[in-house]
Amino acid sequence: MNDLFAGKRVLVFGVANERSIAWGIAEAMKRAGAEFIFTYAGEQLERRVRPLSEQIGARLLLPCDVTDDQQVDALFEQVGQHWPDGFDVLIHAVAFANREDLDGRFVETSRSGFATALDVSAYSLVLLARKSEPLLSRRRGSIITLSYYGAEKVIQNYNVMGVAKAALEACVRYLANDLGPSGIRVNGISAGPVKTLAAAGIRGFKTIFSVVEERAPMRRNVTQEDIGNAALFLCSGLGSGVTGEIMHVDSGYNILGF
Ligand code: NAP
Repeated sequence: MNDLFAGKRVLVFGVANERSIAWGIAEAMKRAGAEFIFTYAGEQLERRVRPLSEQIGARLLLPCDVTDDQQVDALFEQVGQHWPDGFDVLIHAVAFANREDLDGRFVETSRSGFATALDVSAYSLVLLARKSEPLLSRRRGSIITLSYYGAEKVIQNYNVMGVAKAALEACVRYLANDLGPSGIRVNGISAGPVKTLAAAGIRGFKTIFSVVEERAPMRRNVTQEDIGNAALFLCSGLGSGVTGEIMHVDSGYNILGF
């Protein structure tokens, strides 16, 4: 326990279960004293997310599918009522692509599959940043999102999600520039592979996981705790001079050449 986040308010998108990266980040922030509002994407998820939100003592648990403008508006209305003088951190750990677009040749990606992946996984950050700006600026807050190495290099089967992550990383830079004058920092973590629901949708993920363990400089995969600690740094006062940055938390895998 440290008190880096004492009195800090955190709005969380992207907890599906206790393996979610967003859950690891929330736990690290909880250990540092944060309080939370959790969101969930659909009714089915509510059953899984409610016990976690109760376990962490979240103030509210609210529905929010990031592709639904009305739900997003309703969510920020409630967040504004609950925290009228603002909040400190927005965790964006949301991504989706159709399963058929995460297999085989990228060139086969359909127009609608491309639009879906980019909408859920990249545009949602822009939307949530815009809606959060009035509340985050009151407390000089920050935004953190999650990317992957497939944004930079071709990873077999990652396909349209790699393109969505490249867009997401560019969004981090443009948003950092727009929101910096309001005192808001925007950063991303490019995380190494973690066994989550989203990762299970990518064919060959087990191979990626074992190759990292075999070859990464640290000879292991990263944990939720590793990613949570990095998020804590970026979103706390320790990261006060950092914005528009994508930090690799991947046991060093990205530095390797041949
Ligand atoms: P996860 O536990 O499955 O979390 C993904 C979350 O995105 C789920 O809560 C999911 O909800 C949510 N989501 C999808 N569509 C949504 C929508 N329309 N509205 C709101 N939420 C929606 O998987 P994760 O691995 O922790 O993923 C979190 C982030 O980390 C993602 O951006 C992912 O790309 C990134 N990342 C993951 C890895 C990895 O190896 N796992 C590595 C690097 C980066 P539903 O379950 O309802 O769809």
